[in-house]
Amino acid sequence: MFQRILVANRGEIALRIIRACRDLGIESAVVYSEADRGAPYLSLADKAICIGPGPAGESYLKIDRIIAAAEIVQADAIHPGFGFLSENSKFAHIVRECGFEFIGPSEESMDSVGNKDKAKQLAKKAKVPIVPGSDGLLANEEEALKFAKAVGFPVLVKAAAGGGGRGMRVARDEASLIVGFSQAKEEAEAAFKDGSVYLEKYVEQPRHIEVQFLGDKFGNIVHLFERDCSLQRRHQKLVEESAAPNLPEKVRDKICEAAVRMAKASNYYNAGTCEFLLDKDNNFYFIEVNARIQVEHPVTELVTGIDLVKEQIRIAAGEKLRFTQRDIVHRGCAIECRINAEDPAKDFRPSAGTITKWQVPGGPGVRVDTHVVAGYRVPPNYDSMVAKLLVFQPTRVEALATMRRALREFVVEGIQTTIPLHQQIFNTQAFIEGKVDTTFIERTFLHPSGK
Ligand code: ADP
Repeated sequence: MFQRILVANRGEIALRIIRACRDLGIESAVVYSEADRGAPYLSLADKAICIGPGPAGESYLKIDRIIAAAEIVQADAIHPGFGFLSENSKFAHIVRECGFEFIGPSEESMDSVGNKDKAKQLAKKAKVPIVPGSDGLLANEEEALKFAKAVGFPVLVKAAAGGGGRGMRVARDEASLIVGFSQAKEEAEAAFKDGSVYLEKYVEQPRHIEVQFLGDKFGNIVHLFERDCSLQRRHQKLVEESAAPNLPEKVRDKICEAAVRMAKASNYYNAGTCEFLLDKDNNFYFIEVNARIQVEHPVTELVTGIDLVKEQIRIAAGEKLRFTQRDIVHRGCAIECRINAEDPAKDFRPSAGTITKWQVPGGPGVRVDTHVVAGYRVPPNYDSMVAKLLVFQPTRVEALATMRRALREFVVEGIQTTIPLHQQIFNTQAFIEGKVDTTFIERTFLHPSGK
């Protein structure tokens, strides 16, 4: 087993990994930028090391500085968390070349699923259904039009390197496709330095269902059931839950099996997620693999009792999975709300600043993952998530009640958060009945008149 792990991330997920290390009796060292200097979570690691100025490009994304930090603290392994360098296969390669273990999949697996277009080709081979669309990348508008006509409008132009909902445009006719094509390309070029785009049939009002899986270095792969992440704003998740409500058992089995086939096809090890869209007739289509731990992983931890970050570390250290598919039992209902420092009343504008009051909910069935304390200053440089509020109860009805109670207990002053929006969501009939899709928030709360 490792003696010391370098945590190459910040905030909530950095603390999550520090805690897993402590639970396993492994020392942890965490990197930080000048913008995070003095953050209370840093003192929970055994060591903390400054790697540069606030902008991520000068610190959390600087490969050479992270490697130097690993050398200075004499780490055996590096955990990348999510975001930043977590899905960068070049980083994983350099980490391993420098003699550290990368806590994640092999570079080859990351490459085989990292690009969405390549991943779709792999899905086809693994007999996993994909959304109909262009066979590969689009050279120009004419090609986009040709495929759009073949699959039928509406269509979605997507960036091959995309992430976080960027580089995506819906087109309902030829004119909007021509505009959307160049917009998606420009956005992808700016965000990912890769303007390649492809086209997919736009699935109307789909649900987003994803499957967590784990694989070891001996070819054993298991799934840990699904998460329903249909509650999104601008393609960014806000609420996640497991089990997916109103999902027929047969469909659930098929989706989970498809995810395992996809993981096997990419010779995957460590933790990963296979994402699908589910249409109104319960047909499912592969959209992408996330080759890392995800924000919403605790939802799965609560319903399976398996600590995913500990398993990631064990797998990276070369241990065999300690359970088979039959050992993994799904119990109850877990729901997560992402508490972001954003102002829902002002188009979700980021709300940086000092948190003057911070009173976290507790009691039976509540888990809060956060790096924040009263007096914490939310830096303007990074993702706006300040906490993950989770509930776990034997039934969904009870889980909903516990979440309402927990949201009520959660007091944050000094910044605006998404708590008021969550309170509205948990009192909306369609959500209570488990009948929502990825366009629900926009349709219900943001543009209720359909504008
Ligand atoms: P990203 O990597 O940017 O998160 P994804 O491919 O995972 O992009 O898609 C994010 C979200 O965009 C999905 O959860 C879904 O809401 C929407 N989406 C993606 N592809 C389609 C599609 N073909 N039809 C309808 N919605 C889609």
